[in-house]
Amino acid sequence: MKFSKFGQKFTKDSAILQLMDDLGNALNSDKPVNMLGGGNPASIPELNAVYQQTLESVVADAFALDSVGNYSNPQGDTKFINTLVEFFNRHYGWGLTSDNIALTNGSQNAFFYLFNLFAGQFDDGTDKAILLPLAPEYVGYADVHIDGVHFVAVPPNIELVTHEDREGFFKYRVDFDALENLEKLKNGKIGAICCSRPTNPTGNVLTDDEMARLTAIAKKYGVPLIVDNAYGMPFPNIIYTDTTLSWDCDTVLCFSLSKVGLPGTRTGIIVADAPIIKTISNMNAIVNLSPVRFGATVATPLFADDRIKTLSDTVIAPFYQTQASLAVSRLQVEFDGYPVKIHKPEGAIFLWVWFENLPISTTVLYQILKEQGTLIIPSEHFFVGVDTTNYPHAKECIRLSIAQHDETIIKGIATIGEVVRRLYDGV
Ligand code: PLP
Repeated sequence: MKFSKFGQKFTKDSAILQLMDDLGNALNSDKPVNMLGGGNPASIPELNAVYQQTLESVVADAFALDSVGNYSNPQGDTKFINTLVEFFNRHYGWGLTSDNIALTNGSQNAFFYLFNLFAGQFDDGTDKAILLPLAPEYVGYADVHIDGVHFVAVPPNIELVTHEDREGFFKYRVDFDALENLEKLKNGKIGAICCSRPTNPTGNVLTDDEMARLTAIAKKYGVPLIVDNAYGMPFPNIIYTDTTLSWDCDTVLCFSLSKVGLPGTRTGIIVADAPIIKTISNMNAIVNLSPVRFGATVATPLFADDRIKTLSDTVIAPFYQTQASLAVSRLQVEFDGYPVKIHKPEGAIFLWVWFENLPISTTVLYQILKEQGTLIIPSEHFFVGVDTTNYPHAKECIRLSIAQHDETIIKGIATIGEVVRRLYDGV
């Protein structure tokens, strides 16, 4: 049996496969695992109660049954799209119409569409890439191109900062000098710019000033700026800095219901200029016939009365902020006196920890910790589009999920502490 080139791509190891495999194996394992590796959102009882109650009421509603019992059109469930149009216009005044929104089967599906739409081979023979203005970035972007890998990324400027008046933190900043002088950008080899905000894996939140500069660069070169709001405003709103969210016809905003606690509904939302939405709808028709309708059905009442926003602001964001504080304080105890720094926690459901001058790569550390029952994600895979050969920082960090129960976070960080201290001490 022989696979096509396209097929062969799926037979190779990929970071996202490893991540999903480990997550699945840990969830199905009968051995206790300190699962600090996955991207699964937390199970928050207060949220689950609302979803359960909403689910019960939509199931009792004849229209809801009708909407699950029929395909939607390829753009996605019309009732949810109209509700989203009103929701975004109510909160942001963007003047959207239903031509500006399409649904996808999770936002991962949206990135598959968007990255293949804006990068790859073009009619004029150019081969364009997606520009990630700040690496590290979401590992799930890495393998979505149907031919080749089309990413160019700029490593960050690293600034040492304080967090809640404590030392031991750093923050990544976009290296605009490098970005503005990038040959591929100047030579028309970039098809779109993309960033996640907050960033998976680091919990960094690009500032409004950085976003304004990225918007200006995108406009100057006539390419869209794609902003991945999987953890961002206005839902699940896991952001602890003062930031605003903007949209115009040159911006593509991606949202997801996953991190509000509904990852199994596989619901992604794209807000973009009408011609992009039309093309996404056509892609939906070809790949899926129509996107999953179930998440839309459950979510519609929560968006109609803004409950999703209230839950985000009063339940989801505070939950993760508390977990971040717990993890930070445990890490600072474990690594007191060691050259270990934490990326300033500004949002998302992760902490990003930097073991400066660690004698082994964190890819090797990942294996050691896995054998001891603690899962983390090593940093190298997240430097999508960066040649990491001579870039030690890319091999010195780990991503920790803070979505778990306190006990798992405490035990997991204690194991990391023991192993890493021994490595630094050379014993
Ligand atoms: N974008 C980011 C930054 C993510 O972390 C994830 C999932 O972890 C996704 C997109 C994809 O999420 P989903 O397909 O569940 O919407």
